Order: sequence, then C-alpha cells, then structure tokens
Amino acid sequence: MSIKKILIANRGEIAVRIIETCRQMGIRTVAVYSDTDRYSKAVSMADEAVYLGGVALSDSYLNGDKIIQAAQDCQADAIHPGYGFLSEQADFAKKVDKAGLIFIGAPAQAMRLMGSKSAAKKTMLAAEVPCVPGYQGDDQSPELLAQEADKIGFPVLIKAVSGGGGKGMKIVESAADFDKQLQSAQREARNAFGDDRVILEKYITKPKHIEVQVFADSLGQVVHLFERDCSTQRRYQKIIEEAPAADLDDTVRQAMHQAAVQATRAIEYRGAGTIEFILDDEQFYFMEMNTRLQVEHRVTELITGVDLVAWQIAVAEGQPLPKKQADIQCQGHAIQARVYAEDADNDYLPSTGLIEHLQFSTEEKGLVDSGVRAHDSVSIHYDPMIAKLVAWGEDRSACIQRMQRMLNHSAVFGVTTNLGFLSTIIDSSYFKQHQIYTNSLDNQNLDIQQQIPPAVWAILASQIMPSHASASMWEQVGGWRLQQTRPLILTVNVNGQREQHQVTMNTDGYLVDGQYHYQPTSDDLCHRHRYFVQVIHHNHRYTFQLPNHDVQAVASDANALYAPMPGKIIDIKVSEGAQVAQGDTLLIMEAMKMELAIKAERDAEIKTLAVAVDHQVKADDLLVELMP
Ligand code: ADP
Repeated sequence: MSIKKILIANRGEIAVRIIETCRQMGIRTVAVYSDTDRYSKAVSMADEAVYLGGVALSDSYLNGDKIIQAAQDCQADAIHPGYGFLSEQADFAKKVDKAGLIFIGAPAQAMRLMGSKSAAKKTMLAAEVPCVPGYQGDDQSPELLAQEADKIGFPVLIKAVSGGGGKGMKIVESAADFDKQLQSAQREARNAFGDDRVILEKYITKPKHIEVQVFADSLGQVVHLFERDCSTQRRYQKIIEEAPAADLDDTVRQAMHQAAVQATRAIEYRGAGTIEFILDDEQFYFMEMNTRLQVEHRVTELITGVDLVAWQIAVAEGQPLPKKQADIQCQGHAIQARVYAEDADNDYLPSTGLIEHLQFSTEEKGLVDSGVRAHDSVSIHYDPMIAKLVAWGEDRSACIQRMQRMLNHSAVFGVTTNLGFLSTIIDSSYFKQHQIYTNSLDNQNLDIQQQIPPAVWAILASQIMPSHASASMWEQVGGWRLQQTRPLILTVNVNGQREQHQVTMNTDGYLVDGQYHYQPTSDDLCHRHRYFVQVIHHNHRYTFQLPNHDVQAVASDANALYAPMPGKIIDIKVSEGAQVAQGDTLLIMEAMKMELAIKAERDAEIKTLAVAVDHQVKADDLLVELMP
C-alpha cells in the first residue's frame, strides 16, 4: 500500500529531517508537540501539527496512546518514530499495527529480542556471529556472577540487560571491587530500566566502535550499507561519527559486513538497523543491534547517496529494497559532529536557556540537521543536541578540512556549546591518525588542552582596533577602519587569573607583548554577539566576555588615556583633581553595542577630563589626562 500521510512521533532535528524526505516524496506530514515545542521548527514545517500535552514525556512524546489517537484523528497512514522515544518499543509497534496503521520501523519481535542484551547475545552466538567473551546467563546470584567475572579475567565490564545510553555500565578493575560495582550497576539499572539483571563482558581496553548499517525488506532481501566508526565518544555516547571506518583492514571490514548481514538474517528483520561491533585490534565482536534509524545515519547517506528515510518508507509500504547489494557503492568519506548545548570543560553539563544567536555553516555536499532556530530555547526536558554538522570529502583528509571549516564558521550564543571541543578533537593528531578509542576522552589521555597563544591577543585587539583585521573578520565586525597608533593594553581574565597583554599595531601586523609578531590570516575568525567574542585561531576556539568581565582594553601612554574605538561617553566616575588608584574605573564608553570601562593604569591624580557625558568620541581622542 502506498503511504500518503505520516505522523512523526518525535521532535527536533530528526522530525525536521523526516519531513524533508516526505516533502520530496509528496507525502503529507503531521508533527506532534509538547508545550515546549509549540513554536518549534518541526511544527512550523509540517503540514499539520497535533498538540499532545504538557512537558512531561509521559504526557507527550512517550505517550503511545495519545500518539496513535492523533494519527487516527488526522487520518495518517503511518507513524515514523524517529530515534529515541518510542522507536524501539515493541509494545508501541504492536499497538500501531493493531490500530490499522503502519509502523515505519522494525518488527516488534526483533525489537524485543535485541532490547535485551542477554537475549541478543545468545541469538548472535547461535548465528555464529562473534561476541565479546562474557557471561549472559539467567542465574544472577552475586556469587555466580563473581565467579564468572573471575573466569573472564579482569578488567570486566558489567552491563544492564535492558541497558542503553551507557547507563548501568560499570568497569571492574579487580575481584576486590566486583561486589561494590555490581551493586552500583544493579541500582542504576533498576532506576533507569526497571530491570536489574546484568551481563558480564571482558573489558576491552583499546576499543573501537564500528557499526554496520543494514537494511532488510519484507521479501527477505538483506543488504549492508558499509560501516561507520563511532569511536569518538564521551561517557559512552557518540559525538563524532564517520564513514567508512579509516585504517581498517579490508578483510576485517568485509568480515564485519558479512557478519552484520548474517545477524540481520538470523532475526528475520525488516527495515533499517545497525549492528554495533566492538573492535579490539583486528578482532571484532558483536555488541548490540539498534532496531531503528541511527543519529549518525547521515554519514552513510553521504557516502552511498541513499536516502535511508525514503528506504524506510518504501520497505514499510512492502516494496523491495530499491537497490541490490552490488549497486550500493561507497564514495568518498563523511564525518558527522554532534553539536550539544553542553559545557565540555565542566563535566559536559547541559546548558539550557535561550539561543540568542545561531549560525551553522555548510560546505560542498555537506549538510546541517538542526531542529532549533535563533530565539528557541534549549529545555531541560530533552536531549541537548541542537544540531548535526555533516561533511563530505573525496577522502578522509579533505573531509576533515571541510568539517573543520563548517565548525569554524558556525557559532551559537546564549547557551554554551561543544563547538570548540569538537574542533579541538577534529584538529588533534589523535583523530587525524585514528588513535581515538571509545574511552579516550573519558580517560583524558589525549593531550588536547591548549594554552592561549599570543596571536589570540592580537586577534582580540583587532576586534577593538580593527584596522588590520583580516577580511573574514571584517564581515563579523561591520567593517570600520581606524588608525590606532598607541599600544592597546588588554586586561584579560584567564581561568580566574588576571593577565595583561600589550598589543601594538605596526605596518604589517601586530606586535604582542613586545615579542611575538602576528600577521592576520584568512583562517582567523571572530564571532561576536553582545558581550561575547569568540576568536578562532588554528582551529581552536577561545571565548571571551567583553568588557568588565574577561577583557578590558584601553589605549594609553604614561599620562593620558585615549578612546580605543569610536563611541559615546555614557558615564564619568571621577572629577578633575581626584585621586585615583590603579584599576579604578574613570569613565564608561558605549561602543560597538557594548559598554567599555576605561580604567586607571596607575595611581594618579586626574589633571583634566577632556570629555563629558553624551560626548561622541573618535578613536584615539583624548579622554583623560593624568598628573605626570
Ligand atoms: P548502550 O546500549 O548502553 O549504548 P553498548 O553495549 O552499546 O551500551 O555500549 C556502549 C559503549 O560502551 C560502546 O560504544 C563502547 O564504547 C563501550 N563498550 C561496550 N562494551 C564494551 C567492552 N566489552 N569493552 C570496552 N568497552 C565497551
């Protein structure tokens, strides 16, 4: 049967992404939304939208009954669950079916089987798919589990049978720690999944996460669409994914494809699925199967030219797979970076609030999937992923370059994001040489912390006296030029410490602290919003808050202070003859839509005030004279 209208039981960027394909296929779309998402991008794009209820997930995106009712009310033929939420809930799939609707996803029985880590492993072992050595039995007595752990040999990984998203997973280093970690894993699993059963696995110390995209139709055909390397993870959660896997032996690669197809056949699958493997050097093991579309499906689309959502819809309609295995080709390389509203420097704490400004950049054949727009909020109720940037290149290094440019030219203000963190990883030698394992970022054994190089002070100064700023910076600051001849002193707050840097402009660039010579290049960028400046230099992002916060700037010589840029005097704090101490605020200027405090460079007596409140000043105009 042909599907004419689809209800999308999801939100954010995946809802947007499904709507895009539906539009191309001439299929009508229905979005559903909670209070938080009433004005979301997905809702505005869909042909129709149905309000589900408040903000609680149980009232909205996890309320299967309401969603089915909504689909029936608006006469949709099918429900696409996206990923997360109801996408892997067998009971929901069954109910959709019972309601006479098409579920665009896996068969309920496959979801149930793969939803249990122990049942999945048993099935795979029976199908002769290699699995991580371990214990997946029904007997859960602590004594037996401890014995089995000994047999496997430490370190051992405890995983929740019903686990997902890295929850309920504990590494046990030695027998002495086993009981404590077991209890902790069980507690976490009980709270998160209502099931405290566990499996045990040998802990692989340098694991790569390689997964194979598979697709099956209802006529018994199964194909793979190559693999993805998702080893760049934080807290067992993927942040950068790529396809194909780099640096993988071709025999191993083909064996993985074969094993994935074999695994898919073994469970009489239908639709899009992913077989996740863990790679230990050249040995790979089945880890789990995800019975849905993955967040990282775009990288597969970019190397194969296949629209996986269109295939899902075709297969759900009962059509055969659009392509045979031999016709599915891999071309070039693709990388996806997940942009999260979170603070990578502070335990990846989610950052919620209003997105004041947002720009994402793309490159040839690349794309951006995002469910948010400027002035939307990042809410505590949902996953803080705000966008996926996906780059394509003829080969991996071309792809890395494009991804880096996409990241550098993207900026989000209002919430903290991991854009800088992503750039740092992509730019690292570890990533370039495929030396990132799934635990590398958590173990912090990558030396990717950066000192602030002197060039950054020069670029920051160029924001304040931009006569020598590079062309790309010009676009950001609006393009006025001035001559500033005196040294600019930046007082900067770096990790709670005050630092002073002196930047002098000369004929071909900047001199920083009398020592470093810096010449602007077109790769240097600045993003500005209100009080924030982000400097991008050598693919690293440095964020500063102007002024009164992280950065102070003043143009001065021994006995006088000059306007560092054109602006208006909005407040004067001192009078002629007053005694001031070093650091006292003398006056406040408004310039470039921000307030700039002009402070005393030394203890002094004010000789003359050359300006008054409301005066407009030009750059380099005399503001205050001090007694010599
Ligand atoms: P979840 O279902 O919670 O996402 P997975 O079984 O998919 O759990 O594992 C998540 C991540 O944990 C993997 O991508 C990998 O980084 C790590 N991992 C899983 N099993 C092992 C193992 N046996 N040894 C080392 N790391 C592992």
